[in-house]
Amino acid sequence: MTRRLLFAALLLTLLVTASGLTAQETPQTTNVTIHVVQRGENLFRIALEYGTTVDVLTQLNGITLADSIAVGQRLLVPTSTTGSAQAHVVQPGETLASIAALYGITPEALAAENSITDQTGFYVGLGLIIAAAEPPVEPAPAVASTPLIHTVLSGETLFRIATQYGTTVNELATANGIADPETIYAGQQLIIPGFESPELALDLPAPLTSFDVFPLVLTEGQTGRIRLTTSGGVTVSGMLLDRALRDGAEQDNTRHTLLVGVPVGTAPGIYPLSLTLTDSAGVQTAFSTNVQVIGGGYWQEYITVLADRLDLLDPAVNDAEIQLLTNAMSGFTPTRYFDAPMGLPAAAPLSSHFGNLRSYNGGIFQTIHIGTDFSAAPGAPILATASGTVVLADVLNVRGMTTVIDHGWGVYTVYCHQSDRYVGLGDTVAAGQVIGAVGSTGRVSGAHLHWEVWVNGVPVDAMQWVQQSFS
Ligand SMILES: [Zn+2]
Repeated sequence: MTRRLLFAALLLTLLVTASGLTAQETPQTTNVTIHVVQRGENLFRIALEYGTTVDVLTQLNGITLADSIAVGQRLLVPTSTTGSAQAHVVQPGETLASIAALYGITPEALAAENSITDQTGFYVGLGLIIAAAEPPVEPAPAVASTPLIHTVLSGETLFRIATQYGTTVNELATANGIADPETIYAGQQLIIPGFESPELALDLPAPLTSFDVFPLVLTEGQTGRIRLTTSGGVTVSGMLLDRALRDGAEQDNTRHTLLVGVPVGTAPGIYPLSLTLTDSAGVQTAFSTNVQVIGGGYWQEYITVLADRLDLLDPAVNDAEIQLLTNAMSGFTPTRYFDAPMGLPAAAPLSSHFGNLRSYNGGIFQTIHIGTDFSAAPGAPILATASGTVVLADVLNVRGMTTVIDHGWGVYTVYCHQSDRYVGLGDTVAAGQVIGAVGSTGRVSGAHLHWEVWVNGVPVDAMQWVQQSFS
C-alpha cells in the first residue's frame, strides 16, 4: 500500500521517444512513465502494478532477461490507464459481469481492457487485467482471497515460472511439495508464494453452491475433474468435447465429480462445458462456461516389431482391439474405489511415455502410444494400481495377455503383454495386489509392461494418476 504511494511520487509522464521499437512492438499507448525499481520488486510485480505485461516491459526497456533488473534502475512503463491494475484469474462460475461488478467497472470496460470480443474470448483460467476506475485507495480487507494459482503450460519450466513471478525455483518447489523440479507437467497447478488472488466473483444459479474445474486449464491426453456441490440432492449431466459427462455423486447427491478424459489429438482451443442439474422434482437448471485445452507436447518414436508379428500392424487389428476395450470400459460404476494417487504397476523404470506418436518398422507415424511402458524383467510382478473389480481377462492380438480393472466413476486400468495372470473376471482386487507377471505376449519387441488408464471412455496419461489424486 505504501509501495503504491512511493510509486506515485516517482512517476513522471513522458512521450515515447525510445528508439529501437518497431511499429509492431510499440505499445498501443503513447504515454509512459518512469518507474524506479524498489528493493524486492521484479518485472512481474511492476507489470501488474501498471496493468501491463512483462513482455511489454522487456521490449520497451530493451531487457533480455526478465530477472536482470536492479534496485534503483529506471524503467519506462506504459500508462494506458490511470491508477494501478490487478490481475484476476477467471475461476469456474465467474462471469464477465460478476467480475466487473466485483471491481466496480462495467462488463464492457472489462471486455475492452482485455480485448475480449466474443464468447470464446472469456474462459476459465483466463488472466484478466483489471484497471481500477480510480487511483487505488487503501485496499479493502480481503474477504475470501485465494492463493494465486499458475497452471503449467506445455513447454514451461519451473525456472521460467519462478522468473515470471519473481520468485525462486526453491520457493516454488517448497510451496508445492515438488521433490524434483524437473518433473512438472502441462496442466499442473502451482501455488505462487507471496501472491493472492482477489476474492471470487461467483455467479452460480441455485441450487449450485460451488463449481470447480481442476486443473483450470485442461491438457490434451490428460484427465480433468469437474466438481459441483449443491444445496439439495440433484443428478448432474453434462457435455464437454462432444462427450457426455457422467456423475460421480456422493453425500446424498450434493457433491458431484465428473471426470474428463481429453483425447489425444484434441486441438488446442476454447471449448464449451455445459451442465444440467435435475432435482428430485424434475426441475432442471442449466449453465455453461468455457474451458481451455492446451496441447500435450507429445513426442515421436520409432518401434521395431519382430518379423513374425508384422500382421499385427494391420490397422484393422488395432481398431478391432480398441473397440473391444472401449466396450469393456463403457460402464459407469457409481462407487469410487480410489481415494489417493495411484501406485505404480511395476517396480521398474519407465521406458516409454504416453502420447508418443509411433512409427513401426520405419513406416509413417500412424499410431499414438496410449499407455506407459515399464521395462520390467520377464516374470516380475504386476501390481494393481488401485482397488477395483476385474472386468476383462483375455488374450488380445496387440496387447497380449491383458487384465482390465474397473475402479469406479468411469476410471479403468489396463495391464498388457503379461506372461501370467493371477486374477480372473469378476475378482475384487486391492491396491498393490499382485495380479500378474511381466511378459512379452502380443505386439512387442521385448518383455515389458504396458499400462493404460482410461477415463470416461478415453485413454489418458496414466502417470498423471500417479502424481495426483482425483478423488
Ligand atoms: Zn506400451
